[in-house]
Amino acid sequence: GLSSESYCRQHEITVNGDDVPSPFTSFESTGFPAEILREVHNAGFSAPTPIQAQTWPVALQSRDIVAIAKTGSGKTLGYLIPGFIHLKRCRNNPQLGPTVLVLSPTRELATQIQVEAVKFSKSSRIACTCLYGGAPKGPQLRDLERGVDIVVATPGRLNDILEMRKISLRQVSYLVLDEADRMLDMGFEPQIRKIVQEIPPRRQTLMYTATWPKEVRKIAADLLVNPVQVNIGSID
Ligand code: ADP
Ligand code: MG
Repeated sequence: GLSSESYCRQHEITVNGDDVPSPFTSFESTGFPAEILREVHNAGFSAPTPIQAQTWPVALQSRDIVAIAKTGSGKTLGYLIPGFIHLKRCRNNPQLGPTVLVLSPTRELATQIQVEAVKFSKSSRIACTCLYGGAPKGPQLRDLERGVDIVVATPGRLNDILEMRKISLRQVSYLVLDEADRMLDMGFEPQIRKIVQEIPPRRQTLMYTATWPKEVRKIAADLLVNPVQVNIGSID
């Protein structure tokens, strides 16, 4: 409607796709479960960021998304909260492997995502584990053995653990590629493609990137199905 058009214009949101739902301009309009709204309120957030407002309703429709937005725009909760809701719908067995997989370029970023996931899911009984290189595998493998709903991983370490057959991705049905452009710049494309081969094709895939060069467009075309594209601000 008119108000969502003016919201999008005001926040420099452009969308590409069929029947894209209107943005959630307030937390009340999200329909998120009470325990999630409570955490958002505790964090002191007053409104969704533009990327959250426009990607949440699309993600809740189980559609693929490619989101192009700068750092600091609130992308983490943009994919984590729909991931929590996806988990509730699936009710998979955490002993059989994660349902939600987030790939991130570095240990530092993966750790930050893990912290955000734990904080915002603490009243939802969700088990979240972080896998990254430069640290011993033992504790990470023990976490996996306890059962996991969400895995946040760097592509290199996840591949090592896959090759050891210490994780199964057969239950993954919500895949996030965070900072896709950076992962490709760091040379992770072969690892990403190997990981995706282990995930059943019937899944929801969300890709986040700050830039939109042809390498990123190519991997998006290969891994996403009829994605809704959401841009915040101008595209470089
Ligand atoms: P990005 O991944 O886009 O760089 P982050 O997800 O790391 O951004 O978010 C940046 C900061 O904004 C974090 O500290 C996060 O907790 C905070 N944040 C997320 N959503 C909101 C919101 N709706 N209102 C205010 N702050 C938010
Ligand atoms: Mg981020």
